[in-house]
Amino acid sequence: VTQITWPEGKRVAASFTFDVDAESAWLAMDPANADRPGVLSQAIYGPKVGVPLILDVLARHGVKGSFFIPGINVELYPDTVEAIVDAGHEIGLHGYTHTPPATLTRDEESEELDRAYTLLTGAGGNVTGYRSPSWDVSPHTLDLLEAKGLLYASQFMDDLRPYRHAGRRLVELPIQWILDDWPHFAWYAGDSARTIRSTQEVETIWTEEFDGIRHLNGSYILTMHPQVIGRPSRVALLDRFIGYVSSHDDVWITTCAEIAAHADAQLPATVGVQA
Ligand SMILES: [Zn+2]
Repeated sequence: VTQITWPEGKRVAASFTFDVDAESAWLAMDPANADRPGVLSQAIYGPKVGVPLILDVLARHGVKGSFFIPGINVELYPDTVEAIVDAGHEIGLHGYTHTPPATLTRDEESEELDRAYTLLTGAGGNVTGYRSPSWDVSPHTLDLLEAKGLLYASQFMDDLRPYRHAGRRLVELPIQWILDDWPHFAWYAGDSARTIRSTQEVETIWTEEFDGIRHLNGSYILTMHPQVIGRPSRVALLDRFIGYVSSHDDVWITTCAEIAAHADAQLPATVGVQA
């Protein structure tokens, strides 16, 4: 097992990531939502209100984030994507329609990837990474990402630090539901089994995970959604939490693309053996 060494004596890498799903996730979940403007309005809040508030917080802290954007949102929300790119943040692939790859044929998944890649690179981003919609990867996803020449994916839950996928060049930046705002905060009519957690609860969870990953010299990839984290109380949580992470001078806060490039340079290019 190759132990990653972080740059300049840093002991942990951290990346703040945002999945700019807008309505796409709701339409992929249930096409009938197309006729439910009330349901969709909670998704529209993301690009309309959430993203500007998030960009303000990141700018105040001087932090560059990674924004994973379904291709269709480059068409629907060009100004939002432009604001993200202009602020110097990374943009990464997140499907075209946000349909979970596991529910697509290989050809459909490949077409989604191609279409999204063309749109995102056209929006001015240097696109090297991918995160599958709903983290529901198909048996073909890694092959397709590799064929596209992508450097990394951020969608598997089997480690605490970057690794190279077996027999591939592709680097993985592991994530987990515990470090996602959706399971803690998202609530919608018809899903009454869920409970909206307080920001204090989530701050505790995210802080304890950060402390643990820092202790283990891992990578801390926090996944958020502008329609979820973009509420005022949660933007305040994000503000406090970035402040907490930044207060450690041994933390390398950067984009997923930078973490992946660093890992790629360190991990052996072994074939058939997981590094
Ligand atoms: Zn998503």
